[in-house]
Amino acid sequence: MASFAFNNGNAVVDTNVKRVLYRAFDVPDDNVAFEEAAGELIPEGESRVWNNAIMELGGVACRKTPRCEEAGCPFRGWCSAYETGDFTAPDVPTQPKFEGSRRQKRGRAVRILKNHDELSLEELGPRIRVDYGGEKSKKWLRGLLSDLESDGLVEVEDDRVRLQR
Ligand code: SF4
Repeated sequence: MASFAFNNGNAVVDTNVKRVLYRAFDVPDDNVAFEEAAGELIPEGESRVWNNAIMELGGVACRKTPRCEEAGCPFRGWCSAYETGDFTAPDVPTQPKFEGSRRQKRGRAVRILKNHDELSLEELGPRIRVDYGGEKSKKWLRGLLSDLESDGLVEVEDDRVRLQR
């Protein structure tokens, strides 16, 4: 197969690749769109490396139940699904239940706060999510902390947060 043997082949578009393209690059669930997007993303002369990398990503990190954090997915900084929390995909019609979602982020916030007397929201945010930044992230963090506060786990005062004492 030219794509694997040489570096001038076409982009491979299998189920795993479609899942990554759909989640990370927001490509619509359409075979022509997948082919086009994959063709545009592939770096010239690097098809072998690219095909192997994206297929492996789909098999190791971006599985049906994604392992964004555990696998240290390098796409987290800008992945559309990671940002929105919607991890459905063409072969994942309903939102997968997994620890990488809100529950995991809540746990991480608590673990981080255990090591500090208190933190500002701007100090805490990037420690929880690699893509933290901007108004949307602030709103997301305030929502997460408000849930934790309702559960009696943290105290938020102005822009500072600490574990409930
Ligand atoms: S961040 Fe998560 S959803 Fe996005 S590509 Fe990586 S594993 Fe997939």
